[in-house]
Amino acid sequence: MKKIIWAIAFFLFFGGIVPQVNAQKKIKAMIVTGQDGSHWWKGGSEAIKMILENSNLFTVDIHVTPTWGEDMSTYNPDFNKYDLVLINYGGTTWAEATRKKFENYVSNGGGVVIIHSSVVPMDDWKEYNEMIGLGAWNGRNEKDGPYVYWKDGRTIYDYSPGWAGYHGLQHSSTITNRNLNHPILAGLPTVWEHFKDEIYARLRGPGKNLEILATTHEQGRDEPMLWTVKYGKGNVFVTLLGHAGSDPELRYSMECTGFQVTLLRGSEWAATGQVTQKVPKDFPSEGVMTLRKEFKAPFNAYE
Ligand code: ZN
Repeated sequence: MKKIIWAIAFFLFFGGIVPQVNAQKKIKAMIVTGQDGSHWWKGGSEAIKMILENSNLFTVDIHVTPTWGEDMSTYNPDFNKYDLVLINYGGTTWAEATRKKFENYVSNGGGVVIIHSSVVPMDDWKEYNEMIGLGAWNGRNEKDGPYVYWKDGRTIYDYSPGWAGYHGLQHSSTITNRNLNHPILAGLPTVWEHFKDEIYARLRGPGKNLEILATTHEQGRDEPMLWTVKYGKGNVFVTLLGHAGSDPELRYSMECTGFQVTLLRGSEWAATGQVTQKVPKDFPSEGVMTLRKEFKAPFNAYE
């Protein structure tokens, strides 16, 4: 009799609960990576894959482009197989056929996430600049659009001439959420501390259909760190956070809980237009940094 009760209990537990969890359709994501002059694209992309997959909301394929100097036309993935394309790439501009395919994917409603140094490359691709909203370095200046930053409770578009792109030494930074009603930020603390990172400032670009979500004070301005762009029917989420240096010990910026949680929420929003994730207990707060060194939530974070 006991055996039967145990068998029933076993069935109810593993047969009843697990399939329910699996029944939730996972978001199909791909990461584009493979070239970056000043970042460890392989380690960074592996961390991003772990962060997404450990949430149980995503499946992730890593797509590696040709390396520097190789023929970019051989890189032509089928973006339409995915709900979401994450770009962790700082390299050569894609071939024209690939660019057109990606433009169609996004304008037809495909989701996109742009991570850290992915605002640097492909300055000669007009539509990419429209998608990222703001870019840095690679000769960008007033010809590419205004500086965009936050002042007195609103977005400033500053058309004064000058170069685009600045970063100083790495440091921790205070992030202020500016759009608390946006699904990506809803319920999160207004002010929180981000772990040591390479903070970009003085970006400029077309800034069309751009919504600033969060800023940090850098070089005398409240500079956007998280923002969204609407491109056709597609949603783009940009995070300037998440520098990954030259070896596994230098992925500390990505270990920040704030980076991981905003990446997860921004990724779900870009793919589906909504955020179903609860606010975790381990999210950082004003003056308090927290880390997820294993790139996953602690077991009780969402209880
Ligand atoms: Zn960096």
